[in-house]
Amino acid sequence: MKVSVDAVGNLRGFYAGASPSAPRLLIGSHLDTVPNAGAFDGILGVLLAIGLVESLRGQKLPFGIEVVGFSEEEGVRFGVPFIGSRALVGRVDEELLGRKDANGISVRNAIQDFGLNLNEISKAAVGDDVLGYLEFHIEQGPVLEKAGRPLGAVEAIVGQNRLDFIFSGQANHAGTTPMNLRRDALAAAAEWIVTVETLARRTADLVATVGFLETKPGATNVIAGEARATLDIRHASDRARTEALDEVIRQAEAIAARRDVIVKWRTLLSQNAVAMDPFLTEQIGHAIQKSGCEPYHMASGAGHDAMILAEKVPAAMIFLRTPGGISHDPAESVHLDDVAKALECGHHVLTQLAASQEFLGRTCRA
Ligand SMILES: [Zn+2]
Repeated sequence: MKVSVDAVGNLRGFYAGASPSAPRLLIGSHLDTVPNAGAFDGILGVLLAIGLVESLRGQKLPFGIEVVGFSEEEGVRFGVPFIGSRALVGRVDEELLGRKDANGISVRNAIQDFGLNLNEISKAAVGDDVLGYLEFHIEQGPVLEKAGRPLGAVEAIVGQNRLDFIFSGQANHAGTTPMNLRRDALAAAAEWIVTVETLARRTADLVATVGFLETKPGATNVIAGEARATLDIRHASDRARTEALDEVIRQAEAIAARRDVIVKWRTLLSQNAVAMDPFLTEQIGHAIQKSGCEPYHMASGAGHDAMILAEKVPAAMIFLRTPGGISHDPAESVHLDDVAKALECGHHVLTQLAASQEFLGRTCRA
């Protein structure tokens, strides 16, 4: 492969196709990770891509393969994820470049200090010759393990909303205020939190989490006057997610009204689900089967570079079973046999795509 580093720090290796004018298929994942991380999130997908090229033993395909190791997917340093993949879809803007890390160093300065040229960021973007993007990634959840399947074909990356709710009542003396005369903000928030959990439990494939709760004044002998709670709600169907969110807000209002508490909320993030390319996902399903496994079709509850690439090119993902469902932790692992299956599956995908006029014809239409 011809190796280069683009202007946002993505490490790229190009393995040419059978002819100089051949289109290219991107295969990759991210190089970075989180503090106290495991050894497989992201990097396993990069190594599997390199392993796939190696498995060709010099054989040329009707398309070239570009392996991409994305920089800054997790968003740990600058608080904004997907910096590397955003460059491939032309979405690195002034706002992003101006973002600063904990030491006051901007994305712009970090790029320059690394010896990269800011003027070349636009060159990192995908061209018309890109047929699609494939990403191998650990599932980072327990679904494949529970189902007893080594590999999953990802059909969509879930949409999500993040909101902030503030319940405002009246802080008062815990000893002198009778129960029927209280406006307890924390009790209102607590009732609502259980309602959120109940709704998510009875709605198929919905996940909803209240992961943060803060009360004021926060003393043993004072009724809480204010409670702030966050909500994270996700579903592969935008309609199901929006309906559930509306219901959660209605419940917050009803509970607050019954308890003579005021509730206000604001949206911090609203992101629609991203469908993976149906053709590529179907090919992945066939390839998993050829590798001797039963394919498991699923949604991804977490965001990935494939979600960003899908804005510009057909994108698809293959998940590997994650023992214990544990990720972002040193205990994160994979089964060696599953990695071998993933490599075999990837090889079948390449063979199938190389023989597919439908796939190869895609650039001609572009
Ligand atoms: Zn990852």
